[in-house]
Amino acid sequence: MQLENFIRDIPNFPKPGILFKDITPLLADPTAFGAVIDKMAAHYEGKKIDVIVAAEARGFIFAAPLALKLGVGFVPVRKPGKLPFDTHSFEYELEYGTDTLEIHIDGVSKGQSVLLVDDLLATGGTIKACANLVEKIGATVAGCCFLIELEFLEGAAKVAPHECFSLIKY
Ligand code: 5GP
Repeated sequence: MQLENFIRDIPNFPKPGILFKDITPLLADPTAFGAVIDKMAAHYEGKKIDVIVAAEARGFIFAAPLALKLGVGFVPVRKPGKLPFDTHSFEYELEYGTDTLEIHIDGVSKGQSVLLVDDLLATGGTIKACANLVEKIGATVAGCCFLIELEFLEGAAKVAPHECFSLIKY
């Protein structure tokens, strides 16, 4: 199955000059969506993964079914003020200014092996922030899994030495 056929290019979204990769046609097709989760699961079969962590919002879409398929838990990372229980908070640098991500204090434990999931790897800023958050807790990043990687933005280099695995590369 050509997964690329289910990704739609949207010019000038969300800002002029940006070509946005729209994943919604893929999500709307259960065969394509199912194939994505199967391929992701196959890559991590037999590897030591205790929990899957993903940042809102599109990361959740792939992280939850992948967690079920691998038989591990799913823990959400969210923007400040969204999680109901006590949180660890992590501030990270953006091109202009800073942003903050939060995770429940009982979401990931010290020593756990964590798989990070997102829909798309661009500059690597988001996934790097998640990796730093997980490592600050004392857990280990087992890998980073994406549907799409924009290779020309060299996000994988930013996330190194953690492995980045993606199903579609542009
Ligand atoms: P990064 O932090 O690697 O620069 O950007 C990746 C994050 O931005 C991901 O969480 C992803 O959801 C979002 N993102 C950036 N560009 C796109 C895009 O073209 N398509 C989609 N679906 N998400 C994008």
